[in-house]
Amino acid sequence: MVALFIMQVFFAGCATSDVFPTPTATKTPEAVNTLEPEATHTPTLTPEAVSTPAPEATATAIHEESLNTSKYDNVFVYTVEEKENEGRSLLHVAYPVTEQGGINARLEERAQEFIDEFHTIAAEQEAAYQTYLRDTGNRAISSGALYNQHFDVIVANTSLISFAIEQYRSLGNTGSTDVTVYFFDRISGTELTISDLFVDESYLTRLSTLTREELDRRALIQAFTQTDELDFSSNVARQEWLHTQRERIYNGTEPVEENFDSILFEDEGTVRVIFDRYQVGPGSDGVVEVTLPVASIADLLTPAAQELLGIEAKAPTPAALPSATPVPTPTLTPTPIPDTQTAPPPPAQPQVVQTESDVNCAEVPCVALTFDDGPSVFTDGLLDLLKARNVHATFFVLGQSVRVQPETIVRMKQEGHQIGNHTWDHSNLTMLPDALIKEQIAQTDNLIIQLTGEPTQLLRPPYGAYDEYVLSAAQLPLILWSVDPLDWKDRDAEVIASRISDAPVGSIILVHDIHKTTVAAIPAVIDAFGNRGISLVTVSQLLAPLTLVSGQAYRQRIAP
Ligand SMILES: [Zn+2]
Repeated sequence: MVALFIMQVFFAGCATSDVFPTPTATKTPEAVNTLEPEATHTPTLTPEAVSTPAPEATATAIHEESLNTSKYDNVFVYTVEEKENEGRSLLHVAYPVTEQGGINARLEERAQEFIDEFHTIAAEQEAAYQTYLRDTGNRAISSGALYNQHFDVIVANTSLISFAIEQYRSLGNTGSTDVTVYFFDRISGTELTISDLFVDESYLTRLSTLTREELDRRALIQAFTQTDELDFSSNVARQEWLHTQRERIYNGTEPVEENFDSILFEDEGTVRVIFDRYQVGPGSDGVVEVTLPVASIADLLTPAAQELLGIEAKAPTPAALPSATPVPTPTLTPTPIPDTQTAPPPPAQPQVVQTESDVNCAEVPCVALTFDDGPSVFTDGLLDLLKARNVHATFFVLGQSVRVQPETIVRMKQEGHQIGNHTWDHSNLTMLPDALIKEQIAQTDNLIIQLTGEPTQLLRPPYGAYDEYVLSAAQLPLILWSVDPLDWKDRDAEVIASRISDAPVGSIILVHDIHKTTVAAIPAVIDAFGNRGISLVTVSQLLAPLTLVSGQAYRQRIAP
C-alpha cells in the first residue's frame, strides 16, 4: 500500500465502519458464484490503483481505495476493496486513520498483513480452482476467498484512543472471526499493549477467574433452562454437553495473553472482554462477550493507564466483583440409564481390519470419518486416496457446491461412500422458518437424486446448530459428531492427523474436505486406525443396526 499522504482523499459522508456487520448476503460465497459479467463499476479512485493491477487481473478485477470521514473527530476510515479471479476472491478492509502518524503506521501495517495474507490465500485457492477446472472442465466455487476487516472506535479522548479490529476470513463456506483491540497514547502515538496497561501479569489470572466464573454460570443456566433449544434426551446427554462446554470455556480462558487480547474499557465503567468465535463455545455462539465492572480489575491497572482511562484507583471490594447470580443448584441425580449407554465399547483387539462395506460395527471396532462443506477442488484427490486404501467415508455436501461439481457426487456414490445433506448454502437452520429449513434440504436433495437416484438419509446441520424446530422440520435424522480436530483452524496436516488418530471407538469425526491440509492428513489417519485395529466406515454402518429416526440427533455409536 502506498503511504497515506500521497493518496487522494475522498470525503463521502459518515463512516459505516463503526459497527461490525456480519458479512451480508451479497458477500457470501454463493454470491461469488454469479458468473454473469460484472456490472459497471465505479472508476478506480487512486492513481496507484491504475498502475498496480492485481498480477493476474482479468477484465473484472477491481482494486479500489478511498478515505472517508467518521463520526469521531479526526478519525477517518480508509477502505481497500479488491475483487479478483472473476469475483471468486473478495477483499474488503477498513481501518482507521487519525491525526497521529505513529498510530496510522501501526494500523496500516496490520491491515497490510491481512491484505497480503488474502493475496497468498486467494492465489492458492485460485490455483487449485484452475487445476480442477482444467482436469474436469467444471467450475468449482467452493474455493473462493472472502476477507473482511472492520473496526470500531472504543475510547477516543485527547490522551487515549482505542480501536477494536475485527477480521473475518472465509474459504469456501467456513468463516472465522478474530477481534483484536489496540490502545494508543494519542499524544505520542505509542501503541500500548494490553499488558502495558497493567502493573504485572496478575491481570490475566484475574480476568481468567472472573470470565470463567461468568461463562460457567451461563453454561449451567443454558443446560438446565434452555432444554428446548438443546433437546437433551437424557441427563447423560446434558452432562456430556456441559462437560464439552466447560472444556471449551476452560481452554479459552487460560490466563495467557492471547486469550485476553480483546478488552474494551467502556464509558459506563465496564470492561468488555471479547472472545473470538470458537474460543469459548461452538461456532454457532459467534463472538462471545463478558462484561465486568471496571472496578473488578482497576487495582491492577498502572497509574498511567488509570489516568488515561479516567478510572479511579481503588482496591476492589467484594461488592465490585461480579457477584454471580446464584444458579439454582440443579439436581444432578442421574436417571437410570439403560445398560447399552454405559457399556464400554468392545476392546480394540488387534485383528485383521475389515474395510469391506459389510463390516459389522457390533462385532468389530469402528469409527466414521465425515467430510463437511464439499465437494471442493480437493475432494477428488481425497476420493483417490480413500479408494486406494479401500476406505469408505461420509460426505455432508452443500447443494450449491454439488451444482458445480456434480461428477464428484456421482463418483462418491459409485465408490461406496455415503452422501449426507449439509443444506444448500450452509445456512444456520435455527435462524430459518420451517419452510426455508425444508427448502434448504429439499433443494440439495433434488440435485442429489438426479445424480445418484437416491435422496440423502442424513442431515448435518451447519455449525451443528439445531433446535426443536429444526429437528421436526428436517424430517431426517441429524448427525452431529463426537470428535472435532478443528481442521479449519489449524491448517497443519500433522497436527490434524494426531488429533484424529486417537479418537475412541464409536466416534463420529468431523473434518472438512475444503482444506488441502485436511486431505493431506488422511493417509496418516487411515494408517493410525489400521494400526489400532479400527475399521473406518460410513455413518450408517457405524450406527447399525440402530434404526435412525427422523427428529433425533446422533453423535456417536453408543451401543456396543
Ligand atoms: Zn459445515
